[in-house]
Amino acid sequence: MRGSGTVTVRVPAKVNLHLGIGPIRKDGFHEVVTVYHAVSLYDEVVVAPSEELRVTVVGEGADVVPVDADNLAVRAVHAVAAMLGREPTVDLTLRKGIPVAGGMAGGSADAAATLVAMDQMWSGELDRFTLEGIAAGLGSDVAFLLRGGSALGTGRGEAISPVLGRGDYYWVLAVAEEGLSTAAVYAELDRMRGDGDTRAVGAPDGVLAALRAGDTVALGTVLANDLQAAALKLRPGLQRVLDAGRELGAVGGVVSGSGPTVALLARSSEESVRIASSLAGLGVCRTVRRAHGPVAGARVVPADSTTG
Ligand code: ATP
Repeated sequence: MRGSGTVTVRVPAKVNLHLGIGPIRKDGFHEVVTVYHAVSLYDEVVVAPSEELRVTVVGEGADVVPVDADNLAVRAVHAVAAMLGREPTVDLTLRKGIPVAGGMAGGSADAAATLVAMDQMWSGELDRFTLEGIAAGLGSDVAFLLRGGSALGTGRGEAISPVLGRGDYYWVLAVAEEGLSTAAVYAELDRMRGDGDTRAVGAPDGVLAALRAGDTVALGTVLANDLQAAALKLRPGLQRVLDAGRELGAVGGVVSGSGPTVALLARSSEESVRIASSLAGLGVCRTVRRAHGPVAGARVVPADSTTG
């Protein structure tokens, strides 16, 4: 039985349908133009009133997730506490279902879920605009994970606008043996591009048109990620996953964000089942998951439907 005031929030992972990376800005971040897409792989964040700040992480990869202020969800607790003028004394539990360091923004997802959960537990008075403002300050992907769906991200990814789209998309996610550091992948990209790179960041027109039309095959052909070459340099084995996806009939495949998860787009739900089971048999990745998108962002789970 939960204590009164306990709030559970479920939050999805993301894949980037398009990830265009421009030059490094004066603030040290790269200019980004991305199309985010929330998929049905979830973390759950549970907050409850407490005498002190206590952090527990459970689930796959929990042992490598920090429980101090390096954890984005912990930063979210502090941010909401500061905004509402309260002490950050909560019991915070993160149930990881999103692969850790997998390029699917699990840390950012937890931060988004924590913002929603803390506000719900304490006051419910922070409006969407305020929550999005806090989210943008916490990390590039956090604001998107408040909303979910499919959305355009600009700036360093934190400026979100919704995109018109239709249709459901079925994904096979190949999760790697070991995570990749986002910072290391960006550093490799910078090394590959060399000094003084001033390229214009690519526009996601093809992805936006495919989403508008609800055309899975068209979307498969235009998936794009400027970080992919750098991720492949650091993990050459990911090419085998991309090749296997194509051979098994995926309509497209792309490294998700900074990797090393590879997202393969299937023609239909049935096709995703077939591709997932064949891919699992090839032994080219640690585990295979299926997911669909777009799905909603961080949402409170009604008390009578929480598990555990
Ligand atoms: P990024 O969002 O930086 O692209 P990612 O999506 O590849 O990263 P995450 O699961 O967010 O992967 O984790 C990246 C790193 O962030 C982890 O190695 C971990 O040390 C740290 N981290 C901080 N908070 C969390 C969290 N709540 N869950 C998972 N990892 C976290």
